[in-house]
Amino acid sequence: MEYSGIGSTGRLGVQISEEIMESILQHMRKSYPAEGCGILFGKPLDGGNSWSINKFLPCRNLSPSPGKEFLLDPKVWIPGSLSPDLTGIVHSHPVSGPEPSLKDLKQLQQFGAMIKLYLIVSTSPTVSRNAAFSGHKNPPHFSFYGVESGESGEYTLLKLSIQSQADVFKSD
Ligand SMILES: [Zn+2]
Repeated sequence: MEYSGIGSTGRLGVQISEEIMESILQHMRKSYPAEGCGILFGKPLDGGNSWSINKFLPCRNLSPSPGKEFLLDPKVWIPGSLSPDLTGIVHSHPVSGPEPSLKDLKQLQQFGAMIKLYLIVSTSPTVSRNAAFSGHKNPPHFSFYGVESGESGEYTLLKLSIQSQADVFKSD
C-alpha cells in the first residue's frame, strides 16, 4: 500500500509506503510526551519533482527540553547527512498540531540545503484524536512540507497537499 501526493504548486510530490509511515508513527508514539525525531531517506522521481521515501531512521532527541524541541543525535545525524539518499527530517509535536514552530524554522536554516522534505507528526491526544495509532481508523495529524529556498536565502517550508485524512491510505 502506498500513497502519494503533490504540492499545491505542483513542484514536489512524495511517495511513502504505509509500512514506513507506520514505523514513523510508532517511533513518535514511543517518544511521547517528548518530541520524537528521525531521518528520511529516498530517491528522486520524475527528475527530482517527486521523492520516494524508502527508509526511516529513528534518532534520539538529545535536546535538554525534549518536550518542546528536538536535537538530532549527531551519532545518527552526521553519518545520515552524508548519505546521497538523505531526503528529509521528521519530528513530532506532543502538544500542538503539525505546523512548524518559529524554533523549527530557525533550526531549518542549519540543514535546509541538505533536505527536500520535512515531515511533522502531531502526537497530541487532543490534536490527533487518537492516542493509539494502530489501524489508521483515526490517523494522527501529520503534514509534509517541501523545503524551499526563499529570495532572501532563507529556507522556508511549503506545505504539501497531503493530509492526515483517512482516505490518504489508498490501496494499490
Ligand atoms: Zn517542531
